[in-house]
Amino acid sequence: MTGAVFSRAAGRDLPVVAGGRGAELFDTTGRRYLDAAGGAIVVGIGHGSAEVADAIAAQARSVAYVHGSAFASPSLTEYVETLGPLLPVDDPYVYPVSGGSEAVETALKMARAYHLARGEDRSVVIGRTGAYHGNTRGALDVSGRDGLRAPYLPWLGSAARTTSPYEYRCSFPDSHPNGCGAQHAEALEQVIVAQGPQNVAAFIAEPIAGAALGACVPSADYWPAITEVCHRYGVLVIADEVMTGFGRTGRWFGSDHWGVRPDLLVAAKGAASGYWPLGLTVCSGEVHDTIQKAGFVHGFTYSHHAVGAAAGLAVLKILQRDGLVEAAAERGEQLGAELQKELGDHPHVGDIRGRGLLWAVELVADRETKAPFPRSERVAERIVAAAKERGVLLYHSTGCANGTEGDLLVFGPPLVITPAEVTEVAKGSANAIREILS
Ligand code: PMP
Repeated sequence: MTGAVFSRAAGRDLPVVAGGRGAELFDTTGRRYLDAAGGAIVVGIGHGSAEVADAIAAQARSVAYVHGSAFASPSLTEYVETLGPLLPVDDPYVYPVSGGSEAVETALKMARAYHLARGEDRSVVIGRTGAYHGNTRGALDVSGRDGLRAPYLPWLGSAARTTSPYEYRCSFPDSHPNGCGAQHAEALEQVIVAQGPQNVAAFIAEPIAGAALGACVPSADYWPAITEVCHRYGVLVIADEVMTGFGRTGRWFGSDHWGVRPDLLVAAKGAASGYWPLGLTVCSGEVHDTIQKAGFVHGFTYSHHAVGAAAGLAVLKILQRDGLVEAAAERGEQLGAELQKELGDHPHVGDIRGRGLLWAVELVADRETKAPFPRSERVAERIVAAAKERGVLLYHSTGCANGTEGDLLVFGPPLVITPAEVTEVAKGSANAIREILS
């Protein structure tokens, strides 16, 4: 028997990737694709960067691996010093890991450790409906995706859940037109009170819900009201910036749109732009000092990896030098306007929303009632396949509050995408939608 890949695309034949450059990918038959999803909204600086590859090679050639408890690494020190001023966290300390789920697990542990160190036995973490925070046990526990959680429920259960600011299907449809931050904050407060404030360690949320609920941008009053409630009850705020970090939404971090200063922040994806499996847990100086003094014990074999730091540093320098965060804001305006122009009147397009280069189109069976298509029709998946045939790669997801129904097309191209390529993405995806939902 020869070995075989445990495929992530069961039952489907995949093209064989040959290479990539910028927002383009090529397969071994020479076909070109525009990567409008950056894989899973990962690739920020674009494919095929010799600069990042060289930085990785130089570090690997010098020394690839030492244990984080034995040596400091110059590339890690320089990386964190460069990154520090860009982070929306007070007096930030950075704990590098290997991806988003590990970063979330680390943040959850830090939050509990913080309260324990202060003599408080707080363990409950509050997440939001429909949210995705990763596939490991702790991350899945604080996620609100019923379908993903269902098989593992016996292992889950300590987390609580509050409402998501999903304006298209708002939990508070009668609230005032300027936003329902106050209502969401009240809902969060009710959960905190029901759990017993003395038990609640943290609240975790994406500043802008990423692929899970489809680029839901909360109203201006959401984050100020939410953070006020958390602070009032001594609940730490964990910003999950795995998807929204590193320029994706047109600011360095999603939190920046609201001036949120989370106690803990997790990032991954864009951090090393796919060149290395890098995740980061960032905690405030106060959290750091408190848990370090109490002897916080944690770590993965590959945390604090020197090659990861070299990759992250090279990516960061490119984001800064090439003004890619500002580019994301500009190209994002263009993408939003062109999707609106192409699809605004389509009878099955319920909502087009996003910020920076994170956009989603929500498809519905009925625009009036917002009824979703039956999941069995796999509408989003079929459109993604049709768009791929046209050379445009999209990402699909389910929305509808608990993540078990609905059809979302998610757009998250590399931040280096050109204006002409943005137009190709908007037209190609609109044509794919028209083909499947004629
Ligand atoms: N949080 C969010 C918001 C994510 O989008 C993801 C990945 N899609 C994760 C956490 C988990 O990251 P990873 O897949 O790298 O473990």
